Amino acid sequence: MKQSFYKLTHSNLAFLLKERNLNASGANLLFNWHYKKKNTSACITDLSKDTIGYLSENFDFELPKIDQAHESSDKTVKFLFELKDGNKVETVLIPFNNRYSICLSSQVGCAMKCSFCFTGTQGYKRNLSTDEIVGQYLEVYRWLEKNRPNDGKILNIVFMGQGEPLHNFDNVKDACDIFISQAGSSVATQKITVSTSGYLPGLKRWIDEMPQVNLALSLHSPFTEKRDELIPINKNYPLSDILDYIDQIPLRKKQFIIYEYLLIEGFNDSIDDAHETAKLLVGKEAHINLIPFNPFPGSKYKRPSSKRVLAFQKIFDSYKIPALIRSTKGDDVLAACGQLKT
Ligand code: SAH
Ligand code: SF4
Repeated sequence: MKQSFYKLTHSNLAFLLKERNLNASGANLLFNWHYKKKNTSACITDLSKDTIGYLSENFDFELPKIDQAHESSDKTVKFLFELKDGNKVETVLIPFNNRYSICLSSQVGCAMKCSFCFTGTQGYKRNLSTDEIVGQYLEVYRWLEKNRPNDGKILNIVFMGQGEPLHNFDNVKDACDIFISQAGSSVATQKITVSTSGYLPGLKRWIDEMPQVNLALSLHSPFTEKRDELIPINKNYPLSDILDYIDQIPLRKKQFIIYEYLLIEGFNDSIDDAHETAKLLVGKEAHINLIPFNPFPGSKYKRPSSKRVLAFQKIFDSYKIPALIRSTKGDDVLAACGQLKT
């Protein structure tokens, strides 16, 4: 059976070619063709006949299809992708400083069952394969070139769509590897962010295995009881263990960890909640993103007033922790991402 070409990292591809005594520089040509130039057709330029034969016999070049694209007035676009097995996932394109951020899904559904998350209420179906992750990026890139040719391109890639990326570690890692490959799309590591609810088994592989991309932790509460309610896996992987581990991650200059804090009215939006959160993070290379809760049908929480959100934000000033409110859809990755429903 043929496997997807878009599953292969550059080094895997070079290895496979070498193993068959084919010129390993074909990996550069192929990455340039498919990821830099973003061609959909098979690459024939400059490849040897044997390499072309090997590729066509063993690999397919199919990608998930865009089923629907919903464009909102602020230029945000939500894409519904149809996968080969009929499952669907969402990808969001968000305008950002004249360019775009893309919010990728990593799983169909999610096993973490967070009480405030629509994806979590759907349960876990399966991991996305590397090609299904990379495919979201390539297809949206092409959509942008076709539909908004005069606009800027995709600058940032964030794993904040459906699914827990560290629960699908291998495929997310390979997708990041493909994105940053110099011969291909060569996205800078600083432009990629992986967001986790605190899935410790995945996080423990971060330092040794993940390329140096940014990490975002969904914190949501410094208090055990509240965090347990919001993110049930907190009972298995307590926040203190997660923070200890994150502290060991070597950071580049000017790099910081992003802490996401979902604000729910009357639950975790008090001044006391803010102080305790700030105390937990003070002295760390930390930025906070405050995300007012996005309600969905059947959800039991409420979004706080903007006055309350501003008061919460203000507390972080005195601790000198940068805190950004992510609320308006247009310039916001998180708010648009957190609401994904299929
Ligand atoms: N599974 C990962 C990444 C996907 S969720 C994680 O949990 O971090 C991306 C972000 O959207 C997370 O910070 C998550 O807490 C937030 N989110 C989920 N549901 C939301 C909602 N209804 N309103 C606002 N943010 C939400
Ligand atoms: Fe999964 Fe993230 Fe939703 Fe939690 S918030 S259920 S980890 S997608």
